[in-house]
Amino acid sequence: PKLKMTSTDLNFYYGDFQALHNVNLQFQECQVTALIGPSGCGKSTYLRCLNRMNDLIPISRVEGKIMLDDEDIYDPSLDVVMLRRRVGMVFQKPNPFPKSIFENTAYGLRVNGVKDKAFIQHRVEESLKRAALWEEVKDRLDDTALGLSGGQQQRLCIARALAVEPEVLLMDEPASALDPIATQKIEDLIHELKELYTIIIVTHSMQQAARVSDMTAFFYMGKLIEVGETDTVFTRP
Ligand code: ADP
Ligand code: ADP
Repeated sequence: PKLKMTSTDLNFYYGDFQALHNVNLQFQECQVTALIGPSGCGKSTYLRCLNRMNDLIPISRVEGKIMLDDEDIYDPSLDVVMLRRRVGMVFQKPNPFPKSIFENTAYGLRVNGVKDKAFIQHRVEESLKRAALWEEVKDRLDDTALGLSGGQQQRLCIARALAVEPEVLLMDEPASALDPIATQKIEDLIHELKELYTIIIVTHSMQQAARVSDMTAFFYMGKLIEVGETDTVFTRP
């Protein structure tokens, strides 16, 4: 497998509070890495460093280095819009906009200034297919996304992330607001998507990490305390 992203000696501060301590991690293409650990250990903070979402927090500060291929994502000359196109994000709570299913899926393309209608149509269809939602919505693309079930809304949010052809997909507890059947669908989807993307998923569930991930990284109080192949770390005595 090919190396896609790395963090080196990553520290993160909310004001005086240090939320991450010297986190060194590597992510390979076509692999799912699960970030696990108790609530408040820094999983989401770490995830949000990987596409610089934490930049939005005024008093925060980051030290260390994150590389995406051979680019330093904290380099001042880096285009953050381009970064977020390459490193997509799916949140815990499905958050479709109060717009049609089509427009939700096309959202990132519009933000990126894409005008070609046929291209947008093609990307919307392809993304909804990849997110295993197409069959359920193809006859009602102009209906509001808010009429979909929670599980459908989450797959729509995944389609929205995929539409701009990201290379890395960040998922912050993508199934923890869903019922067991919808959760199963998301987990099946992660298995399919990993052939095409580098996936990093935060979960508080060891069972879910064991089901979906190739690598597991354990966080505790802002530190990475162990990382290894999921099959190995969960069977260790
Ligand atoms: P999670 O489900 O990731 O554990 P929380 O419920 O702890 O998230 O936090 C929800 C939101 O509140 C997040 O956006 C997080 O950044 C923010 N948050 C968490 N702790 C604090 C804090 N001590 N001060 C300000 N905001 C916080
Ligand atoms: P996790 O995702 O593992 O639940 P978080 O990354 O959300 O953990 O939080 C790590 C630590 O940082 C916690 O102590 C939390 O309270 C704190 N924190 C998170 N968001 C903020 C924020 N916006 N401002 C201040 N502290 C925060």
